[in-house]
Amino acid sequence: MKRVGIIGGGQLAWMMGDGAKKLGLELIVQTPSRQDPAVNIAQETVFATVDDAAATEVLAKKCDVITFENEFVNLEALSALENQGVCFRPRLAALAPLLDKYHQRCYLQELGLPVPHFFALDNTVQPEELQSKIEHLGFPVVLKARRHGYDGQGTFIIRDWASLQKKLAGFSTEKTVNQPLFLIEEFVPFERELAVIAARSVNGEVVTYPVVETQQEQQVCRRVIAPADITANHAAEIDAIAHTLLNNLQVVGVFGIELFLTTDGKVLVNEIAPRTHNSGHFSLDACETSQFEQQLRAVCGLPLGNPAFKTPSAVMVNLLGYETSQSDYQSKRQEIAEIPQSYIHWYGKKESRPGRKLGHVTVLLDSQNRDAAIAIARTIESIWYPG
Ligand code: ADP
Repeated sequence: MKRVGIIGGGQLAWMMGDGAKKLGLELIVQTPSRQDPAVNIAQETVFATVDDAAATEVLAKKCDVITFENEFVNLEALSALENQGVCFRPRLAALAPLLDKYHQRCYLQELGLPVPHFFALDNTVQPEELQSKIEHLGFPVVLKARRHGYDGQGTFIIRDWASLQKKLAGFSTEKTVNQPLFLIEEFVPFERELAVIAARSVNGEVVTYPVVETQQEQQVCRRVIAPADITANHAAEIDAIAHTLLNNLQVVGVFGIELFLTTDGKVLVNEIAPRTHNSGHFSLDACETSQFEQQLRAVCGLPLGNPAFKTPSAVMVNLLGYETSQSDYQSKRQEIAEIPQSYIHWYGKKESRPGRKLGHVTVLLDSQNRDAAIAIARTIESIWYPG
């Protein structure tokens, strides 16, 4: 396997560039715009949206295996290609239970994995039934669009009955042909949010990266502390969750698993990303094998690389857009680059918009100290964000 097709050309595909070079692979990307980050590292690009299966048929002719950096695909249309012999890794059956957040929760529950209490909200749910189900969960609840949510888009924390009615009324008056479907779940008053990256090879070998702590603001990841300061029991429990999930789905590739650690010490799975994930970006600079090289190794049938740290710990900070601008923020990037042991990754997006992920910084640390990691993150954020 030499030529790897990637559906999606954002920063996750862009960050596969170095791994591909190292392994002597060619990357061919399917992405809509010439300005998408991965166009610069791809040997060739098929310009089309990620759900365009006709474009994926063209992509398939140019490569030996196809993998994903974006899961907003049309599985039904792609399955015709898989039936004709196109090699998708992960195979489509491993993605099928995960793309809709409600189906995903049901699947995790069937596997016996711990998840928050939830139910599907569709037109068949009568008002009295809705009221009783919500009373059972208790406000606040979390309303989530079942598909196409990312970076907190499509996730709403609802404090009371009136806000829920208002939110739902807002959706039903939208003149969209496809009304979004929702899931409602309990609000988890977590102590911390955690994540783990796991990879599985063609031969069924599973490796997991160290569990990390993720910190979100307004539902968007702001920083990652690697490794998380958690007990060995919690780490082992999360490792077992990753093994159960990847083995049951017979995944070939890399998955990101987001979790809650509750105030009473329980671990709950929040969400599965069937691809590399923001919570694993630290691995580019802090680990023997990055999550991006690992995905390429897995999908090309190579032995998996060592996920271990090559530093005692690290902190990763996302550089999010805070204005609409075409600036490349040279001087701020320079200032951040002067922090000792910092590695800045700038995705080269042509336009900044509030909340858009423009780049990230990882700082390697000489000891494992959560407070010190948070202090460095604050320093970076005080350089990056105005005011
Ligand atoms: P996305 O797919 O947009 O990343 P998530 O479901 O991962 O959406 O939610 C984003 C963030 O919203 C989470 O990282 C967490 O901070 C918060 N969140 C989501 N679900 C819950 C919940 N049930 N209880 C508390 N916070 C939640």
